[in-house]
Amino acid sequence: MSTLCPCGSGRAYADCCQPLHQGAPAASAEALMRSRYAAHALGLRDYLLSSWHVSKRPAQYALETGVKWLGLSVKQHL
Ligand SMILES: [Zn+2]
Repeated sequence: MSTLCPCGSGRAYADCCQPLHQGAPAASAEALMRSRYAAHALGLRDYLLSSWHVSKRPAQYALETGVKWLGLSVKQHL
């Protein structure tokens, strides 16, 4: 049984954001955004830092505690 990806794509996590979390490159800006959202939902701090542009990455980053990620809705992308 597969688990739905927390990014809200409707696809299985294993066929959606998991490969990116394991090091695969994002095929689009939307895929990157979804993977970063899913990383927040799954608590993948290392992925968040590694996918953050080095010029904008903070020196310290702690995941929010007590936050329930309710969903991601992509309205439009190029
Ligand atoms: Zn996903």
